[in-house]
Amino acid sequence: MKKYNFGKNITTMMLAWAMLAVPLAAFGQTRITMPKNKYKIQDDIKLGRDASRQVEQQMPVLNDAEATRYVQDIGQRLVNAIPSQFQHSEFQYNFSVINARDINAFALPGGPMYVNRGMIEAARTEGEMAGVMAHELAHVALRHGTAQATEQSKPLNQLGTIGLILGGAVLGGQQGAQLGMLGAQAWMTKFSRKYETQADVLGAQIMANAGYDPRDLANMFRTIEQQSGGNRAPEWLSSHPDPGNRYETINREAQSLRVAGGGERNMREFQRIQNRLSRLPRAQSMEEIARNQQNGRGGGYGQGQNPMANGRYSSRVELPSSRSRVFTSGNFIQMSVPDNWREFPTQSSVWFSPEGAYGDNGITHGAMIGMTEARSNNLQQATEDYVNGLMQGEGNNYLRQTANYTRTTLGGRNAYATTLTGRSPLTNRNEIVNVVTTQLRNGNLFYVVAVSPESEASNYNYAFRNMLRSIRLND
Ligand SMILES: [Zn+2]
Repeated sequence: MKKYNFGKNITTMMLAWAMLAVPLAAFGQTRITMPKNKYKIQDDIKLGRDASRQVEQQMPVLNDAEATRYVQDIGQRLVNAIPSQFQHSEFQYNFSVINARDINAFALPGGPMYVNRGMIEAARTEGEMAGVMAHELAHVALRHGTAQATEQSKPLNQLGTIGLILGGAVLGGQQGAQLGMLGAQAWMTKFSRKYETQADVLGAQIMANAGYDPRDLANMFRTIEQQSGGNRAPEWLSSHPDPGNRYETINREAQSLRVAGGGERNMREFQRIQNRLSRLPRAQSMEEIARNQQNGRGGGYGQGQNPMANGRYSSRVELPSSRSRVFTSGNFIQMSVPDNWREFPTQSSVWFSPEGAYGDNGITHGAMIGMTEARSNNLQQATEDYVNGLMQGEGNNYLRQTANYTRTTLGGRNAYATTLTGRSPLTNRNEIVNVVTTQLRNGNLFYVVAVSPESEASNYNYAFRNMLRSIRLND
């Protein structure tokens, strides 16, 4: 009898203890609510699938079965640890290693994830590497890509851009130049602070569920910062901006989490993979990859970084065709250009020029569109900065501003226009350069620069006006 009572008491005590412990844990950890999203699960999946096809065509996926399997195993362990309310059984999570030295990783809507070799090599522990992956998984599970599009009221037909851009953001090169540099920065390289906090918190919870110390996620942000050497922040940090006190937020969350299985670390396996990677030939940077793609793919785009380098300047240049064609870059921009102008994408701009008017010193006839980071939020100030920079640029010092800034519109928004003139060393003739600028929603400056010899300006004005009028921006 006594024995029975004793047993019962123990059980009761344990039950009471369990009842006490469970609510404590449940109340302690931050509750996350799925952000509003007007898109279907299938939209996330399609976006991710389309973009991953593009990524895999253009990025060097590491061909090393052991390293890949290792990353896949960790990825699967983390996927299994996603809280059930954020599991989407339709999502297909898969994990690849990109053979690039930059410290970066990204996940596409619906599941495909890419971890750069540089990220694995930078991490100090398996937990730190898993931390980056858990953070990325949290963005995917919370459907932040389409949620952000919902918030910005993007029509569904623009959604295709997200995927392309996420791909483009990391690949550079010809497509990358257009989609990545133009499109991505304009569209959504950055998750909002709100989503960053969510991904940090859910990332920490996933870590704990998977048996990792969630504080390793916080540590990884420090590790990445240190590797940047105080110069340019690694790509990964700029697309996942610190919502403020990130390190503290994650560590606070970690205190309320119980690490499944005690959180022992698998250091040996991690070190083995790091050693293995260090014995492989040095990985290229994304910039090198993009440059080599430009060179290798060529298609008449010439050698070296300048895609126009193959061009030969001629004194006889065909007039702009009266027929136009539509140029698009993702869904970020659409505009008409004369159909006898070739296009040359570079890292942050696209040049348009007829045969005989382009070469390694730029263009003598044609136009250029592009985007640049604005130091000022004020459009006029940002425009002045850009124009001054343009005139000081290599090979442009013959240009002088010969008109005041005038207000106009571009793509339905406020814009500024001005004119520069000077004697072109390429043609030995007076040249007219028209500059029109406007602001993108992320604060960057979008510019159109139109170039022609003064004596031919009347033939070019019509083409430029058409081009400017036709510009549609979706940023
Ligand atoms: Zn993030």
